[in-house]
Amino acid sequence: MSRPEAAASFVPDADTLAYLPLGGTGEIGMNLNLYGHAGAWLMVDCGMMVDRDRPDGILLPDPRFVAEQADRLVGLVLTHAHQDHLGALPWLWPALRCPIWATPFTAEVLRRQLARRGVPFAGLLDLRTARPGRPEQIGPFSVEWVTLTHSIPEPCAVILETPAGTVLHTGDWKLEEAPVVGDAYDRARLERLGRSRPLAMVGDSTNATVEGSTPAEASLEPGLERAVREAGGGRVVVGCFSSNVARLVTLGRVAVATGRRLCMLGRAIEHMVGAARGTGYWGVDVSWVPARDIGYLPRDEVLAVATGSQGEPRAALDRLAAGNHRDLDLEPGDTVILSARQIPGNEEAIARLCERLRARGVRVVGADGEHHIHASGHPARDDLRRMYGWVRPRIAVPTHGEARHLDAHAELARECGVETILPARNGTVCQLAPGRPGIVARVPTGRLRVERDDDEPVPVGPDLE
Ligand SMILES: [Zn+2]
Ligand SMILES: [Zn+2]
Repeated sequence: MSRPEAAASFVPDADTLAYLPLGGTGEIGMNLNLYGHAGAWLMVDCGMMVDRDRPDGILLPDPRFVAEQADRLVGLVLTHAHQDHLGALPWLWPALRCPIWATPFTAEVLRRQLARRGVPFAGLLDLRTARPGRPEQIGPFSVEWVTLTHSIPEPCAVILETPAGTVLHTGDWKLEEAPVVGDAYDRARLERLGRSRPLAMVGDSTNATVEGSTPAEASLEPGLERAVREAGGGRVVVGCFSSNVARLVTLGRVAVATGRRLCMLGRAIEHMVGAARGTGYWGVDVSWVPARDIGYLPRDEVLAVATGSQGEPRAALDRLAAGNHRDLDLEPGDTVILSARQIPGNEEAIARLCERLRARGVRVVGADGEHHIHASGHPARDDLRRMYGWVRPRIAVPTHGEARHLDAHAELARECGVETILPARNGTVCQLAPGRPGIVARVPTGRLRVERDDDEPVPVGPDLE
């Protein structure tokens, strides 16, 4: 395929349905997707990612292509409350100024995030409530949220319907038959969509290189419980992602089962648990202890959940390893359990964290296969096959992945009988309809970087390929 020239602008006409990612396609993080039809753009998600080269800052997708035609932007639809899907909004919304649709839990997380950062425009936000099964007309798009399962409450796919065709944008998902938080996935709606042979499915590629099916969150409880019991009379600190609400709930259950009290170390975990409790998703009758009191508890009653499982500087686990955490000093015989995957690129930082903990006499239990203590929130290949079997799209557009994930997803979609696979990347305008689907233009993209909450984002690096 010849490479289309970068165009300063592209306006979808009345017959056109186009998909254009500005972030998250060719990388894992900072998802920003646009759908174009009849002179309008609809944005799906607006996320950030940690700058792995310089972890004191975060990266945002450069929205200039759509910001320059913000009058055509009819709305922003959020699929779920993870940072790689909504975390850029505190910085990017002033350039977009469109109404936002989110389900109640996602809206709660967004509101807390804006409040925490003291964002001055928070009062100007036009934040509207989305409910699965209740379509909204947003400009020329009819948008319907469909309940899926992931690692957080209310993960949704969206069905975008236009006279030019219908698209399923999956967001992040896995197939949980008995989810630890939230509702079951709506298989019947996906199958009903499949009976009409929708034009396209644009979807999660994170685990497209992984054979089999992603294990259920509930299957982790016995392994985590065993790891906690093996800590004997010592304290237990579990490192996990604050965004993994399902894991936090599982750990709440483990605390109840092992007679320990639960404590949150790290602001991000407190905020996520606060949002889950505020919207009725917590559901575990566990005894809490505030961080400031944790030092007074008998050691065998402590189960703390801490940020910093990737070895991030200044996170709770980093401070515990350094012996300068404000509320807790770990002692020989205490245990740290890492219940999170190692994000590629973080291996060294995690190894250093473990070494420092061990040097203090702390036992470290990792996701080493000996204990079944972590499961992904994304679909492996058998899960993708099932989804394609239900939805039966004519076009597949792999997104939410690095090149190797997108390629593996493309190959799988072909194997599932999808007629056309479009190799989208950030900045490629994928024309889904009319006529033969293809990449018809390339628009400017890039990355912005911020270090502090009140920073203005500054462009970094060249455009992504
Ligand atoms: Zn997610
Ligand atoms: Zn994601």
